[in-house]
Amino acid sequence: MSTVSLDENSENSENESVTRTCPDCGGDGEVECTECNDGETDCYDCDGSDENSESCDGSGVVSCEECSGGGTEECSRCNGEGKISD
Ligand SMILES: [Zn+2]
Ligand SMILES: [Zn+2]
Ligand SMILES: [Zn+2]
Repeated sequence: MSTVSLDENSENSENESVTRTCPDCGGDGEVECTECNDGETDCYDCDGSDENSESCDGSGVVSCEECSGGGTEECSRCNGEGKISD
């Protein structure tokens, strides 16, 4: 009577689906918003050229609508998970 173990080298066994760090966001789940500069973008109203614009109070820049002014948006590749499965 001998029991043979075929599974003695399973120290690193994971779930069936192997995940790896998302190359697009580096695991953060967020990427820099491409529509703006650190959450700010040229005023939609005056394009940054009208000092009397109400939309931007004359600053020429407004909060980015894409990222709500955060400067980053959810990574589309991993849907904000930070990792993807092959
Ligand atoms: Zn990602
Ligand atoms: Zn403006
Ligand atoms: Zn943005």
